Amino acid sequence: MEKREKVFKIACPKCGHKFEESLPTAIFALGADREEIIAGNFANLTCPECGNKFVLNYRFAYTDEANLFMLVNDPAFVDRKARLAFSTGLGLIGAARKDELIKRTLRITYDYQALREKIAIFESGLDDKVVELMKYFLINSEDFSYDPCQIKDFIFTKDKEFHLKTVLSVGLKLEFSDILYDTIVNNYGDLIKKDMNYLIDRNWAKNFLKAE
Ligand SMILES: [Zn+2]
Repeated sequence: MEKREKVFKIACPKCGHKFEESLPTAIFALGADREEIIAGNFANLTCPECGNKFVLNYRFAYTDEANLFMLVNDPAFVDRKARLAFSTGLGLIGAARKDELIKRTLRITYDYQALREKIAIFESGLDDKVVELMKYFLINSEDFSYDPCQIKDFIFTKDKEFHLKTVLSVGLKLEFSDILYDTIVNNYGDLIKKDMNYLIDRNWAKNFLKAE
């Protein structure tokens, strides 16, 4: 498999020194890059001028041919213009390539935490839309001891559990419930199939349930 590298012009976030670094733009799940992403060591750079260490979030595609998914990590995607460019770009893809894409689940992430979570979900053979709806129901249930807006992070991990962090940095763990997962599949499966969004996060779940 071809590994595409691109030279990036980078400015050190600490001293502003500009330097160049060659980084992959097409990553495949079998390589060392996957290990690095999961371990949190991916795109860790050191400024040659001041020695500052930082993580560069940049645009690349991550493809897993065994589990049939493709993730486009794009830090600019939070911006509306980038979203429009992305959907227009998909319209220009040739028919053959499109067929190939449809067989895979295509998702957008804009940081490494979200990217790692998608990898964990799809490698576990789960549907990320169901997982996001699960989070919504867990966080809004009467048994949940926090207000939903107090939860900053709510992440599915490779150990098949949820790690949460409150805005005050309190860490919590929640068990993954297969019963809840299956109930959501039964109740929302058909609607989920019709949903064509690529950016699936907590916001998506909220809007999905509102539209329903
Ligand atoms: Zn520097």
